[in-house]
Amino acid sequence: MSSTTLEQRTAVEQRRIVNEIPGPRSRELMARKQGAVAAGVGTTMPVFAVAADGGIVVDVDGNQLIDLGSGIAVTTVGASAPRVVAAVQEQVAAFTHTCFMVTPYEAYVGVAEALNRLTPGDHDKRTALFNSGAEAVENAVKIARSYTGRQSVVVFDHAYHGRTNLTMAMTAKSMPYKHGFGPFASEVYRAPLSYPFRDSGVDGAAAAARAIDVIEKQVGATNLAAVVIEPIQGEGGFIEPAEGFLPALAAWCRENGVVFVADEVQTGFARTGDMFACDREGVVPDVIVTAKGIAGGLPLSAVTGRAEIMDAPHAGGLGGTYGGNPLACAAALAAIETIEADGLVARAREIEDLMLGRLRALQAADARVGDVRGRGAMIAVELVKAGTTEPDAALTNAVAAAGRAQGLIVLTCGTYGNVLRFLPPLTITGELLTEALDLLDGIFASTR
Ligand code: PMP
Repeated sequence: MSSTTLEQRTAVEQRRIVNEIPGPRSRELMARKQGAVAAGVGTTMPVFAVAADGGIVVDVDGNQLIDLGSGIAVTTVGASAPRVVAAVQEQVAAFTHTCFMVTPYEAYVGVAEALNRLTPGDHDKRTALFNSGAEAVENAVKIARSYTGRQSVVVFDHAYHGRTNLTMAMTAKSMPYKHGFGPFASEVYRAPLSYPFRDSGVDGAAAAARAIDVIEKQVGATNLAAVVIEPIQGEGGFIEPAEGFLPALAAWCRENGVVFVADEVQTGFARTGDMFACDREGVVPDVIVTAKGIAGGLPLSAVTGRAEIMDAPHAGGLGGTYGGNPLACAAALAAIETIEADGLVARAREIEDLMLGRLRALQAADARVGDVRGRGAMIAVELVKAGTTEPDAALTNAVAAAGRAQGLIVLTCGTYGNVLRFLPPLTITGELLTEALDLLDGIFASTR
């Protein structure tokens, strides 16, 4: 890292716009990207990063942007968290790789122990480590099939589980995730979700009964290996099912010998104001999939579950060259220590209070803000044509673009593309968050 970058890293955490966004160096690099990188790899915000931590990303032109995205819910502890940096530096100097399946190392076992301890439920658990969220979801399905001897998998409307062939089949939205990429894996069935904003009057129990009816009629419990669900949907629009929905589904799975898999890739590790989103309603999944926030930015994912389920696949049936790489494991142990020692679960709830308060005030002043929802530092607003529930993707894109031009890294999501989502690092300061919300207020006011 250049000395300028180091200076920038230690600069006071504040938004700073030194030129238009993207600036000249970012524009130069974007031109190189277009000539070198496959067009399918998109860019939300065409600025090139040189440093990041807390709530700030510094770009190549010296702009300091407020980070409301955490690289899609990854840098929960910050993007250069001191414990993570130190642990990775120590590990990289010792060894980078042996392959855990060839000659194992302690950090992998340590991460497995930490996950077995932290994930919901006090039953005997086992963990296996992988590289990406999608890879872990695929392995959760393999494990559930192996354990149950059944093949079918149920997922939900608006679900996002990844971009590999099986997880594309499990993901709901065609464009951009699936369009042109079929045929998809078979034995994947979709059930209706609980979506309170678009489902008014259907409470959690009724929504669960509706989903279970579809599952029983269209799949049949005895064919079903696993129900896979995000406890709060991520890419699908930060949809929090009505209270009672998840517990009822989990109970039905238990009664029918179906493995209940929580995909907590986006919601896990303090993001939602609990260590895991399932904790809020006391739901204990049989298997939980984690990634993103687990390792302070290094690529790591995990499948954790009941020992008898996890141990079903034969030796050699699970794994991969890089799964549970030593650098990623060192980072994960440091990230988990940071979450626990620095009280980041409680910090997520403070962020929730600040953001929900401000965004609900905005909703009261602006009829285009149809819904404000989310938990912890996973908060969203769903934008609609004033006074209706008709999605307004154009407004969503316009607000996001205006925010980006003013130095906010803001992401959108949702089946209808009409959700602004906020996923700040839990280490962001209240001042930066307030500034970001002030800017958003101004953008909404200027478009009314
Ligand atoms: N599941 C969920 C809930 C996710 O949010 C994501 C990523 N957005 C994935 C799976 C896939 O993770 P990855 O991109 O690491 O493969």
